[in-house]
Amino acid sequence: MKYDLVVIGAGPGGYVCALRAAQLGLKVAVVEKKKAGGTCLNVGCIPSKALLDSTEIFSEISPGNEHGIEVSKANINWSTLQSRREKIVTQLTGGVEFLLKKAKVDYYQGFADVKSCYTVVVGRNNLATKNVVLATGSTPVEIPFLPFDGEHVISSTEALNQFNIPKSLIVVGGGYIGLEMASVYSRIGTHVTVIEMMDRIVPLMDTDISKQLQKSLRKQGIKFKTSTKVTDCKKTKNKIILNLEKNKKTSTQEADQVLVAVGRRPNAGGINLNALGVTMDERGFVSVNQNMETSIPGIYAIGDLVPGPMLAHKASEEGVVVAERIAGKQTTLDYSLIPSVVYTHPEGASIGRTADELKKANVEFKTGMFPFSASGRAMAIGCTEGFVKVLADSKTDKVLGVHILGPKASELISEAAMVMGFCGTAEDIGVFIHAHPTLSEALKEAALEASGHGAIHT
Ligand code: FAD
Ligand code: NAD
Repeated sequence: MKYDLVVIGAGPGGYVCALRAAQLGLKVAVVEKKKAGGTCLNVGCIPSKALLDSTEIFSEISPGNEHGIEVSKANINWSTLQSRREKIVTQLTGGVEFLLKKAKVDYYQGFADVKSCYTVVVGRNNLATKNVVLATGSTPVEIPFLPFDGEHVISSTEALNQFNIPKSLIVVGGGYIGLEMASVYSRIGTHVTVIEMMDRIVPLMDTDISKQLQKSLRKQGIKFKTSTKVTDCKKTKNKIILNLEKNKKTSTQEADQVLVAVGRRPNAGGINLNALGVTMDERGFVSVNQNMETSIPGIYAIGDLVPGPMLAHKASEEGVVVAERIAGKQTTLDYSLIPSVVYTHPEGASIGRTADELKKANVEFKTGMFPFSASGRAMAIGCTEGFVKVLADSKTDKVLGVHILGPKASELISEAAMVMGFCGTAEDIGVFIHAHPTLSEALKEAALEASGHGAIHT
């Protein structure tokens, strides 16, 4: 059979690409070696949020909560919580298979090998195609002297799926996975220590988000060791002991389990890319042009396999761009407008450039900040930690970056994305009527401050 497009990998990059291509009338096949939904649905975004949301409810209804909900003792049933996580994942991955079937996309279960830009081999099937999209995703990075054993040294996959609760956990890496999983385990009683080699957690986010989030998480019981390197490890029967180094001083830290969350690397191996002559960068990411096409015409690559933030929504948008490009449309993607969110409590969310990046680029900008402690809705919710920060061009008032730490920051950031997508100004956000009482009023107030009108409630 001749396909217009064969997509390798059914994660948020691959399956969205296949659905969009089918919508545009192309004959499409998807090949997946594990389960539909990829990392995101099976062992990433969705299961982590299921555990985060359940444990957040647990921590809110614990005795002494400020809402006056009286409970003598709230207990966590970790295995019920895990079963709920499994059920959500099964429902969603089944949903992806259903959508592909409904769109008449042929689904092949198996490992795909790209024999040429016109042939993809899956077991005994040779799929002849005009175009190939590589969407094979990524895998957790291992620290050489601390290899994953699935029991004492684990990756996010085991941290999400395990039915036992460690008494103590060291998390190596204070990035997205590290902080989200540290939150889950600390809320259910595990003693958690996060080791981060940089001088602040989530080092790519706004510095005020890093500082205030660390303070909030410390109050929740998570311990932090920043500017600290893990240099070696020793295993005893039930414990792992890590050797640490900070400012040339050494120390040790022991725990039942170590979660290594120091980033992910692209899955570029095993699919014949070198033999085909597909160019990769020094870190193993597949190089692509603005059409997401690799060095071999007709072979495209998207998602975690290519440079850029490793985020599900970025992978999906790239999938749409490729599908539309193959169908003859001139779609492009604005990489400066990809929001990123860390789903801690409070949540951190960012879009556009940070103050540090703007200073480095010699861009003159104005800052408007508004604290959630002055928001009526944040008080009603019971989470007044954090702020909204709006950065706007000094001359034109164009919004250059929005950085939020606070309740539902993940939802609030979409308003900023919309305004920035239309090249809007801080004044644009400030003059629109926002419903009262909502958290979004904090964004309006910060924007009024940045635009020079001045926030009303400060
Ligand atoms: P993947 O989702 O990794 O999918 C690739 C698919 O390709 C896999 O199913 C794999 O089995 C398949 N495959 C690989 N090789 C072959 C082959 N040769 N043949 C056939 N099939 C193959 N991002 C967010 O935006 N928000 C979040 O909240 C978030 N949370 C996360 C939490 C965790 C714990 C993790 C690990 C990641 C999280 N991410 C999050 C990142 C997100 O999961 C990834 O960015 C996203 O899944 C990348 O999509 P993708 O389609 O490129 O690859
Ligand atoms: P990350 O890049 O977010 O964080 C890794 C952290 O580990 C960084 O802060 C880094 O400085 C630190 N680090 C690196 N090597 C270290 C070492 N040897 N010792 C101590 N610290 C070290 O990576 P991650 O948390 O593993 O997540 C992987 C990817 O998955 C991310 O790129 C992210 O985009 C994606 N993800 C996103 C979300 C989300 O959107 N909410 C959630 C989870 C994962």
